[in-house]
Amino acid sequence: MADYLISGGTGYVPEDGLTAQQLFANADGLTYNDFLILPGFIDFIADEVDLTSALTRKITLKTPLISSPMDTVTEADMAIAMALMGGIGFIHHNCTPEFQANEKFEQGFITDPVVLSPSHTVGDVLEAKIRHGFSGIPITETGTMGSKLVGIVTSRDIDFLAEKDHTTLLSEVMTPRNELVVAPAGVTLKEANEILQRSKKGKLPIVNDCDELVAIIARTDLKKNRDYPLASKDSHKQLLCGAAVGSREDDKYRLDLLTQAGADVIVLDSSQGNSVYQIAMVHYIKQKYPHLQVIGGNVVTAAQAKNLIDAGVDGLRVGMGCGSICITQEVMACGRPQGTAVYKVAEYARRFGVPVVADGGIQTVGHVVKALALGASTVMMGSLLAATTEAPGEYFFSDGVRLKKYRGMGSLDAMEKCSGSQKRYFSEGDKVKIAQGVSGSIQDKGSIQKFVPYLIAGIQHGCQDIGARSLSVLRSMMYSGELKFEKRTMSAQIEGGVHGLHSYEKRLY
Ligand code: IMP
Repeated sequence: MADYLISGGTGYVPEDGLTAQQLFANADGLTYNDFLILPGFIDFIADEVDLTSALTRKITLKTPLISSPMDTVTEADMAIAMALMGGIGFIHHNCTPEFQANEKFEQGFITDPVVLSPSHTVGDVLEAKIRHGFSGIPITETGTMGSKLVGIVTSRDIDFLAEKDHTTLLSEVMTPRNELVVAPAGVTLKEANEILQRSKKGKLPIVNDCDELVAIIARTDLKKNRDYPLASKDSHKQLLCGAAVGSREDDKYRLDLLTQAGADVIVLDSSQGNSVYQIAMVHYIKQKYPHLQVIGGNVVTAAQAKNLIDAGVDGLRVGMGCGSICITQEVMACGRPQGTAVYKVAEYARRFGVPVVADGGIQTVGHVVKALALGASTVMMGSLLAATTEAPGEYFFSDGVRLKKYRGMGSLDAMEKCSGSQKRYFSEGDKVKIAQGVSGSIQDKGSIQKFVPYLIAGIQHGCQDIGARSLSVLRSMMYSGELKFEKRTMSAQIEGGVHGLHSYEKRLY
């Protein structure tokens, strides 16, 4: 091996470690656990590491983290939280198209708030407060959106009423229309925010020319803008949201509803994306919605990627058989260890400017760093984000442990629920369902409001140890050969974990 001279230093330093190209030169498939990254030189603090990265050709995120379109991972709550923290969530499609489209959240303008009429009572407001956790309810003539605004009831209007006054009509306590500050329909979020700040009110009703209520804006959402500086937003300051669709005829209707609801990016959800169906769907979307970003997949080889890139995808989702709930490799005999899959596809796709999402198999924050170091631009997670407060489903107890369900979209359990996941894992006309996933449970992880900041800080520390100030520096270090890797034997893997202790507690953050 060639030696090289560090200028002005103490002499020759032997070449050490493998470049990514050398690491993957042999045809043995590597998982994230099969290698390590050799540390570099630190001359900056971890906090400075810039995690900005491309999700697709046109969408860039400040945090390279994505929640998977699975029915135990991403619905509205998860998608909102992920976007607020600079990542993005993809709403699953194991549900009706209408349900999926409704999950798209428009931060700022609330278009379906709780509305009451003057003939409702104080008791109704209190009940709404218990159920939805807020006060500040607009009052319209008929108690519905689209009807004439006649007032607003806030907690200040009802706080000091005695118990017996719960039957008082809202017409008697509400702040009437002539005392309200409102904004006209068509106002931008920025202008509306300025009005709210000036008026010092909690809510700003938006009305049309006929004084009918069309939306409201809440001060709490304004605060969110301040509290979540990384938030992923579109040009209208709406939170970014992705959604999954299949590639069948009836998915075109789903697609229409999703685009009407404002989805920014679509992922074509298939476990083997290199198919005539997916290519046809990419052509269809690009022709009907040229500005909609489309992520194709899943793929694990450059040959699969080629067809989807040629069809016009804006991003690629990489992974087959590496998911924690996945039995695809066991059943279908197809797939690829995820480290190799990410490197091979990313190395090919970058020549065409197509970013890669490393999907599945992420068990630790170190795996996220490895995926990014192998050329992925973003990382998609299922199990790591499942069983958080924001994941769909109720907690339950088993043997005293608080759990939430987490299941593969190709598990019989998920496929029995609705058609979306069947499409991902079955061909039209299949008579026997063959499961490609399992259904299980995961221990309560608390809110991703704490977990995602831990992941972000962990990635920054990993990059600092490597000596990469940003994810783009990390990728160029890898492609230039400056970034060095080393394979891990079984015993190296054991050494790298906790060992030799009688007992221990593993607290991560
Ligand atoms: P995890 O992060 O390791 O739990 O993997 C999540 C990923 O597994 C998802 O984003 C999907 O790509 C994939 N996946 C979801 N459901 C199934 C399944 O039933 N079988 C195989 N793969 C699945």
